[in-house]
Amino acid sequence: MNHRTFIPALLGLLALAFTAAAGTDPVPRFPYQILRHDLAVDLDLERQFITASDRITLRPDGARPGEGLELLLRRGLEVTAVLYDGEKTRFTTGPADLSHFEAEADSEDVVFYARAQALRLELPSGAAGRDSFTVQVEYRGEIRDSLEGADFSREYVAMEVTGIVSGQGVYLGPEGIFYPALPQQLFTFSLSATVPEDWRTVSEGKDGEAQVKDGRRTETWTSRQPVDGFHLIAGRFEVKEVDHEGISVRTYFFPDTTGLDQRYLAATKDYLSLYNELLGPYPFEKFAVVENFFATGYGMPSFTLLGSEVLRLPFIIGISLGHEICHNWWGNSVYLDYVSGNWCEGLTTYCADYLYKERRSPAEAAEYRQGLLRDYLAYTHEHNDFPLTEFVMRHNPAQRAVGYGKSAMVYHMLRHRVGEEAFWRSLQWFYRDYQYKFATWGDLQRVFEAESGQPLGDLFHQWVQRAGAPHLVMQGPMLTRLPEAWRVSFPLAQDQPGEPYNLSLPVKISGADRDTVVHVPVNQAAVQVDVTVPFEPLRLAVDPDFDLFRRLDPAEIAPSLAETFGARDLVIVLPDQAVPELRAAYEELAAQFNRRGEYRIVGSSELTPEARDAGAVFFLGRPPENPAIPASWLPGQPWEMAPGAYRLLGGEYRDPNAALLAVMRHPADPGKTAAFFAGESPEAVREAGRKLTHYGKYSYLLFFGGKNQLKGSWEVSGGPLTYNFQNPNATR
Ligand SMILES: [Zn+2]
Repeated sequence: MNHRTFIPALLGLLALAFTAAAGTDPVPRFPYQILRHDLAVDLDLERQFITASDRITLRPDGARPGEGLELLLRRGLEVTAVLYDGEKTRFTTGPADLSHFEAEADSEDVVFYARAQALRLELPSGAAGRDSFTVQVEYRGEIRDSLEGADFSREYVAMEVTGIVSGQGVYLGPEGIFYPALPQQLFTFSLSATVPEDWRTVSEGKDGEAQVKDGRRTETWTSRQPVDGFHLIAGRFEVKEVDHEGISVRTYFFPDTTGLDQRYLAATKDYLSLYNELLGPYPFEKFAVVENFFATGYGMPSFTLLGSEVLRLPFIIGISLGHEICHNWWGNSVYLDYVSGNWCEGLTTYCADYLYKERRSPAEAAEYRQGLLRDYLAYTHEHNDFPLTEFVMRHNPAQRAVGYGKSAMVYHMLRHRVGEEAFWRSLQWFYRDYQYKFATWGDLQRVFEAESGQPLGDLFHQWVQRAGAPHLVMQGPMLTRLPEAWRVSFPLAQDQPGEPYNLSLPVKISGADRDTVVHVPVNQAAVQVDVTVPFEPLRLAVDPDFDLFRRLDPAEIAPSLAETFGARDLVIVLPDQAVPELRAAYEELAAQFNRRGEYRIVGSSELTPEARDAGAVFFLGRPPENPAIPASWLPGQPWEMAPGAYRLLGGEYRDPNAALLAVMRHPADPGKTAAFFAGESPEAVREAGRKLTHYGKYSYLLFFGGKNQLKGSWEVSGGPLTYNFQNPNATR
């Protein structure tokens, strides 16, 4: 899910732009700071039109006498008047300055600026010398982004809707600049919104008594906590409310959404209790689960906005709701200073998605960590990897694998380094000290160092400032019998490019009836590891529970569809011998996979062995339909695609609408994958094919009529970081 805040990406560049505009200032600066917005908005749903008045309280911050004020406002809104301390003052509007962003024409900054107009105000020379003053901006206009393409996906964040006023509902976000703004400001606000009598509104903060007059309802939201932006959501909601330890817990659902409110209210209460205890008191007066009329999964301070379909997805209450609630600590009250990298998605993932697994069982926690490493292996390579200091927000699986996955693993390793108590105490301290302030990775480091009493520069440097991950290679272990013990020795190398990492290497040694895990400090490219245990070792495993962030060996994980789609080179092979309707269905599917044009699509008659073996390969259709499938690859596989029958793990399945997916290690290179997908009919191909990308982590999938029947991953025997002393070949 997506954490929302004000204009994420552009802050760094914008600061530079302001510096340039100001001429000689050596550091970025805004001559005025916004202290408060008092915004009144009247919503005309039929005309998709707003009429607004924003009284902005400002404080000079190094302004020169007579220096003007430049605010940003959504383009297309018409400013009708500006008042300085109640008196009309002169203003101009014009395009926001785009000239600083030429280098990256499609960056978020440019996209944001394309939405903005600049509102330039003249201020009397006395303004710069005052403690504070107010500027009132009157404006109006249509706001109606298209909803086309709004889509919720775990992997891809779709085109953003930044503002829409309609009879179905209202979404106005700070990224859509529906009120005059400056970037990276923290301010309090009040928002009065007027809607039809049977509508309700939601924003950050706390609501007061609603006023109803002439069929119109006005609700007022105020925030005593400084925010970095605020929203206006409205709809024909039914509101349910319960009190939880002084916090108002609410659902705002559409009338035909029944039977979900009690579950959401109960789950919200549980999450609030969890984080109150773990991290410190919840910072707001309310938390609301709000249904949206288009697909979103957003978390804002004190509420979450979930599309109608999203609200009904099975994993939302158990995981995503908790993740969004956790963002009220990380990101929505301790704010993100994006300039130095987004530290907050990894921390939220660690305190939510990951922690829920850990609280169920150590095995589920290890499996989750393995999944993070698997995604990193599947989706990143030297050309798209980046350090966490450069993570802003995710747009694709590689950014997710680093910005969420690697980042969560950094907190995991930090926890091991400083210890359980110091870890949670540091987070509580960080929350207390940085509440309603912008915080950076550097601030986290300072707090953890102070609380744990140890320098952590090496850890933050190698995991946060550096791209990539260590790759570990174990060489043949030796076993030595000592008088009272056994010694296990093996050479261990890190063969990634660049400096060796400083690691606390978990080594697990198992005997007949017990095992032990020791942590061996490793800080060179090649070391000799010696571990002595008081029992006879039968098995050795390096980092068997995936406690280190590292580049896995492909043999440590089952081949998966995600790994196939994440490959740097993927060729998709169409079945030239399939009947035309079937081939057409496969062609559509291939085009769907290749929406972003990253892959090659070829017919089976065009595929050369070189192209087949150059990267990952995905064969569509069964062998007779797709003659490019090498006959020598298939014998011995635990699956078979015969006409009319699919065999999988010993079972045989006959269904007129069956479809089977299987992924194996590429026979030409076990670091890559070969995938196969076939369906009995064009419908089977379409219906199952549409769903494939939701099952990325699996090695095999069986569908009947688009409904999943079987899914799973092939068993892996342990990979090159394990060793069996009794039967050395058994686990290699
Ligand atoms: Zn998040």
